[in-house]
Amino acid sequence: MIKKNVLSVKKLNKIYRGNIHALNDLNLEVKEGEILGLLGPNGAGKSTFINILAGVTDKTSGEVIVWGFNLDKNPRQVRVSLGIVPQEINVDPFFTPKKLLDLQAGLFGVKKKDRITDTILELVALKDKSNSYTRSLSGGMKRRLLIAKALVHKPPIVILDEPTAGVDVELRRNLWENIRSLRKLGVTIILTTHYLQEAEELCDRVGIIHKGNLIALDTTENMLNKIQTKTIRFEINKKVVLNGMNNKDYNILTNTDSEFKIEYNKQELNIQKIIKLLENQGIVIKDIKSEDANLEDVFVNLTNN
Ligand code: ADP
Repeated sequence: MIKKNVLSVKKLNKIYRGNIHALNDLNLEVKEGEILGLLGPNGAGKSTFINILAGVTDKTSGEVIVWGFNLDKNPRQVRVSLGIVPQEINVDPFFTPKKLLDLQAGLFGVKKKDRITDTILELVALKDKSNSYTRSLSGGMKRRLLIAKALVHKPPIVILDEPTAGVDVELRRNLWENIRSLRKLGVTIILTTHYLQEAEELCDRVGIIHKGNLIALDTTENMLNKIQTKTIRFEINKKVVLNGMNNKDYNILTNTDSEFKIEYNKQELNIQKIIKLLENQGIVIKDIKSEDANLEDVFVNLTNN
């Protein structure tokens, strides 16, 4: 099934005062129901992009269409189509989550009978904290409350700016679960992150922004496949004799009586050939571990060039 685009950006430019080009002709289409990750080093232009969508920063030029609405013609509808989860925790410590969500719903003009406060609190696992002061919530709970706050007007698209910045590993997994449950409800999600693992685990597609340019955009899987080298480590019982292999296709990292570690070009060599080579020499393979490329490799590769 071909998914429709719910957000489309064409030739988006932002030049700040002082001739700082934060975004250069950015083109991007976001598909319904996906989780799209935007990666990039500090200063890449990620916040500028989000701020333009949020209506906080004016673009210099380009076209932005969100949920069918043009940002220039229908800024209010664009705003209502988006739920924006900021990075900074900015909730009044003396409000309860319930009160805060009610106020936010009021800001968006959601009628009392249409409010889904309890459902949202349940979704982000804060139901039992509904009536506690926000100041008594843990850091993780506060982050979940920010997600909840962005959902009061049932936006079809949710944008999260560095949702797990500065959060420990366990809490991060927890927040990922919240984000996945959102997606299950059909919400389209755009998030920025500088944790490559986050993008790898959570995102269907990944875009890499560098110096205001979108330098790569693909499914997470294709992005990982872009790295042509793979590393395999064999636990063995004797050293491998290397002849008859073309050495521009591989790089031997370890070759001892107990371990053989090889880095190779996926186009030229494959694991079957390597196993065959070992077996032909009567070597017993006790264990095999493969070290796949991760997004960090892709990222370093792309941003270096
Ligand atoms: P990121 O979110 O990826 O770290 P930003 O969008 O914050 O990147 O920044 C992109 C570029 O724009 C940087 O060079 C930054 O210094 C510049 N910039 C961001 N905000 C402003 C501003 N309000 N005025 C001038 N320059 C800015």
